[in-house]
Amino acid sequence: MRQRYVFLDRDDTLIVDKQYLRDPAGIEFTPRALEGLQRLRAAGYGLILITNQSGIGRGLLTEDDLTAIHARLRDLLARQGLALDAIYYCPHHPQDGCNCRKPATGMLEQACRDFEVDIAQSAMIGDSEADIKMGRAFGLTTIQLRLDDSRPNHGADYLATDLAEAADWLLNRPR
Ligand SMILES: [Mg+2]
Ligand SMILES: [Zn+2]
Repeated sequence: MRQRYVFLDRDDTLIVDKQYLRDPAGIEFTPRALEGLQRLRAAGYGLILITNQSGIGRGLLTEDDLTAIHARLRDLLARQGLALDAIYYCPHHPQDGCNCRKPATGMLEQACRDFEVDIAQSAMIGDSEADIKMGRAFGLTTIQLRLDDSRPNHGADYLATDLAEAADWLLNRPR
């Protein structure tokens, strides 16, 4: 049976963007991120992380570094009783021309092969234009997380200041 998922960007959505984070100790959740994930889980959404990590293609961190970061991320979430169903990342350099770097939809396509996704009932939450473009191209509801007002508006279905607000809108919107 198909299920609802929320696809989440990582940097400046789930955790604070530290610019090519390499040290697992540098993980810092964005405001009310855990609260938002709790609400989505309680409402029955699956949670899948979709993240561009070109720092690998640029030689700024290794795949092992990223594995360690995501292991700690999962550990920190587990302490709150939370889990991600999957983490997909694009390790490529922007000039590699891959089909997975957002706004390309390769990671979403892979997620749909691995999980029974009800696309019409699922959503993409992210801070960047690439997140919103990818989500829209795939037919997902889109929510732009804008941690401060200085960021541009990318024309998502909804603008939220944090993940808890994004979750509230998603759970309460008319259908
Ligand atoms: Mg981001
Ligand atoms: Zn890629």
